[in-house]
Amino acid sequence: ESTIEVTDLRKRYGPAVALDGMSFTVTPGHVTGFVGPNGAGKSTAMRVILGLDAPDGGTALIGGRPYRSLSRPLTHVGALLDAGALQPSRSARNHLLWLAHSQGLTARRVDEVIEQAGLREVARRRADGFSLGMRQRLGVAAALLGDPSVLILDEPFNGLDPEGIVWMREFLAGLAAQGRAVLVSSHLMSELQDTAGHVVVIGRGRVIADAAVHELLAGV
Ligand code: ADP
Ligand code: ADP
Repeated sequence: ESTIEVTDLRKRYGPAVALDGMSFTVTPGHVTGFVGPNGAGKSTAMRVILGLDAPDGGTALIGGRPYRSLSRPLTHVGALLDAGALQPSRSARNHLLWLAHSQGLTARRVDEVIEQAGLREVARRRADGFSLGMRQRLGVAAALLGDPSVLILDEPFNGLDPEGIVWMREFLAGLAAQGRAVLVSSHLMSELQDTAGHVVVIGRGRVIADAAVHELLAGV
């Protein structure tokens, strides 16, 4: 099961409240948008779901279990956090080969995700020379290596040109249509409204709205 269930998450960093009782569900088969201004708590929530940060309270479960108790976390959950930080000093393909090797995956799988993420033409170039847009694609390719049923992507539209945004939208919609649960954050509703069936809008660590896009746009 690949439903993500976040219940009453709370997290403070010193005096700063990052998560203030946040609850939402991400269902498989859809892109769920996770929208809010910078500082709203999107990355923190994603890091907690991925077991990279401990919450002060509440739970984040994937298929009913915390990330850290999943038996095969990397084949269950793929993540992209901060693609801007991704600057491997080797070719894109070698970077993916290295990640695949560490997960016990084959070179054939690497070539599949290179193809899927539209990276064939740049796969042999040094990835530290990539534009942010190409790093986003590389990050998504890396997240897909284990063929996960859950994808958690933090701001994958950042740094993409208009054509890249359209490509990423269609790519994510396709991944969700294959039955994956896909949670995608953005500070811009406009990037997600044509892709996400459902949007969770957050502000100051809380859920402000949680509805189908057509309901949100109708002002419900
Ligand atoms: P978003 O991803 O929506 O931009 P974040 O989750 O990054 O929001 O941040 C939520 C709040 O928590 C902000 O006020 C931010 O400054 C604070 N915060 C996040 N990570 C840290 C950290 N490691 N140390 C201190 N404060 C943090
Ligand atoms: P489709 O992709 O078939 O157009 P939608 O993505 O709009 O369908 O969602 C179908 C139903 O599932 C809607 O009622 C929607 O509100 C609900 N849904 C989708 N994602 C979520 C979610 N993350 N949490 C709760 N309900 C959701």
